[in-house]
Amino acid sequence: VPAEGIPDVRAYPALVGALALGTGIAAAEAAGPSDPHFWSLAAAALAVLALLPGRRRRLVTLRRLRQTVLLAAACAALGGAVTAAHYDLPPRHVARVLPPTGEAEVTLEGVVAHPPVQRPTGIRFRLDAVLLRTDTRAVPVEGRVDVVLGQSSWRPPELYGVPRRGDRLRLTGLLRPPPPKRNPADFDRGRWLRRQGVFATLRVTAAQDVRYFGHHLDPLGRLVEALRRRVTGAFARYLPTDAGRALQTALVLGDRRALEDDVNEAFARTGLTHLLAVSGLHVLLVGLVLYGLLKGVLLRFGLSLRRVDVLRAGLTLAVLVVYALLTGASASVVRAVVMTALLVGADVSQRPSPPLNALGVAAFVVLLIRPTQLFEAGFQLSFAAVAGLIGLGPVLRRAVPARWQRPSGGRWLATTTAATLAATLATMPILLYHFGRLPVGGIGLNLVAIPLTSAVFAAGLLTVLLAPLPALAAPIGASADALARLLVWCAETGDAWLGGLAYEGHVVHGFTLAALVGAVLTLAAWPRRRLRVRMGLVALALAGAGVWAATLRGDARPHLDLVFFDVGQGDALLVRTPRGRTMLVDAGSTESGAARRTILPHLRRYGMKHLDAVVVTHPHDDHEGGVADLLRAGLVRRLYTNGDAFDSDTHRRTLRLADSARVPVQVLRAGDALALDPAIAISVLAPALTDAHPAETNDASLVLRIAHGRHRVLLLGDAQLAAEATLVARYDTLLRSDVIKVGHHGSRTSSSGPLMRAAARPGCTAVVSVAERNVYRLPGPEVVARWRRTCHRTHLTSAHRALWLRSDGRTLGKVAWR
Ligand SMILES: [Zn+2]
Repeated sequence: VPAEGIPDVRAYPALVGALALGTGIAAAEAAGPSDPHFWSLAAAALAVLALLPGRRRRLVTLRRLRQTVLLAAACAALGGAVTAAHYDLPPRHVARVLPPTGEAEVTLEGVVAHPPVQRPTGIRFRLDAVLLRTDTRAVPVEGRVDVVLGQSSWRPPELYGVPRRGDRLRLTGLLRPPPPKRNPADFDRGRWLRRQGVFATLRVTAAQDVRYFGHHLDPLGRLVEALRRRVTGAFARYLPTDAGRALQTALVLGDRRALEDDVNEAFARTGLTHLLAVSGLHVLLVGLVLYGLLKGVLLRFGLSLRRVDVLRAGLTLAVLVVYALLTGASASVVRAVVMTALLVGADVSQRPSPPLNALGVAAFVVLLIRPTQLFEAGFQLSFAAVAGLIGLGPVLRRAVPARWQRPSGGRWLATTTAATLAATLATMPILLYHFGRLPVGGIGLNLVAIPLTSAVFAAGLLTVLLAPLPALAAPIGASADALARLLVWCAETGDAWLGGLAYEGHVVHGFTLAALVGAVLTLAAWPRRRLRVRMGLVALALAGAGVWAATLRGDARPHLDLVFFDVGQGDALLVRTPRGRTMLVDAGSTESGAARRTILPHLRRYGMKHLDAVVVTHPHDDHEGGVADLLRAGLVRRLYTNGDAFDSDTHRRTLRLADSARVPVQVLRAGDALALDPAIAISVLAPALTDAHPAETNDASLVLRIAHGRHRVLLLGDAQLAAEATLVARYDTLLRSDVIKVGHHGSRTSSSGPLMRAAARPGCTAVVSVAERNVYRLPGPEVVARWRRTCHRTHLTSAHRALWLRSDGRTLGKVAWR
């Protein structure tokens, strides 16, 4: 590579090919379902064109350029073909038997494909479907299904046996397509499943619906299982503590199931999560050590040097491939295996291959096997980090003055610091895009934690290898355990001291993201070295400008945002005022985990650092349950209640947490106003101070009205007929509103004729917050029908998911978030 001047792309053909392949994959994913044959034909045609000799008169350089462009286009078309094939389901695929209604009660036979995961919600695993039984017939099927052995909400808890990988099971349950995303900032589990090649889910709710039919594994699967048992057996025997075993299992087998939540959390908050997986670096090191050691061993058999080289290369790769299978073949492990193969191959054939090109080959192989990995954070982080190490590391090290590097310690420090910084810079845009958080405090921690992790890994591996010799394995196991706990201590101490030091903010705009990526690329590869830093700064400034442009462009015009979350059975509404103050009315139930899964991610995603007001309309769990999680997250500035001294665990817990966090709790009454933002008026309509305590807890619900410009929003909580009658008598046409949060989840015990007549403005929107198939059989179909006749639009969260409305005081519109 010339140090100055444009890098020659022909030195890295595989890198160019991988980039083109990725472009094709992204294009096909964006285009939606398409015919794989069309893409394959295009790829073949372009490849043939590239290899045909061009017209002779052309300049040689032009001919080369034409060939490069055509081959890159062929790679892009190939990317389109493999992506289209990923989504093109064969006729016998299990997802194809789903009826148009989208779900069916079925009996499915298949083989457990992965070790199951146990969660509070149930036992989860992937099943390779074999046979589908309906009432009348049994048909052979194929395809992978995401299975949950869960609990029914109205029966006593079911006890399931935990299946093993390779078990053949017959399961009866509800077969559905992967779930849609229900709220703006929710994790899109359905899309994630489809990208993994899972196009159907099965939910089982009774232990009697699970039948065991024997164990079935192919020879390779049996080998992998036997090795896995060896490793876990050695850890169980020689590692004295649970914490040490859990960390070693994560590091050596890539199995994080036994790690405690707060350990995971500490690593995540300090930005050290990448250490909790099987690292590509370790795979590479093991491969090279093995390759080196095998030479001495094989030479003793009196083989020729050439044969020894070929043999040890083959053996090393076979061991690495089995190890990759043992650890679940993550993107970074496959990348490391491919790169080791190229390094070893280069050594055997005496033909060196530039590291960036090796990285390109690895990316090409990974994407060809499963194209949709391109969109996964794991793939992106792994490849960006290595690209950063190769491309950016030397640039940063050269920036350190030579005299500082003269002592060997200084040189080591400069190299490792440059490497850490390079990997951090290269992964920064990806972290901000996927997680919206850049743990700044943890960057320095890597300098200690990375070498420590390698020591932990090496000690763990030695424990497994020496397991047959207890006299050696015992002391090494003890030190492997101690080292593992030292690493956990490092992360936890780092978290306590530096965990809070992080840049938070999602990069959502394409322009900002492109500018950030551009800044990193410029720094690594701008042809004129002296201009690199300056050009990098220009690109960074552009990224900053991107953030401001988004703020200046319309998004920042004062408006009122109302997000009616889909929290299943329950209510949760987020109000963001024109001046950016925030109010949450109810927070969903404890059981749904809506606060953790939906509300907190939403606040983070859209840059809201706290909630100025949290209103609990009444102390039922489907309204108050999620408040505890918000209080624990330290986000609540002030809590408002209806003052009901309700006797429930949820209510006691909420008040206790608010008290210990010193969050003021205030009781609201009709006539009160919440002075959140002068641009809007929030008034409390019910209950009145003079009202007798109602027979129904629901009837004491806080009823709120929000006025912004010409728009009115009425929030009825769970008010029932008695409370509605009082409201109509007291306010009548003052209730008139454009948006109405319908009382008590659309129950028959609410939404009387007089209330609807008083509250509905022409063109109004009625919102019913309710779960599909809930135990209470809500909403009443006739109630929904009446709202449909009265209002312009009736929105059921069960059917239409979350609703995001935006008003500037004159026009009221829906924000498209899907
Ligand atoms: Zn309710």
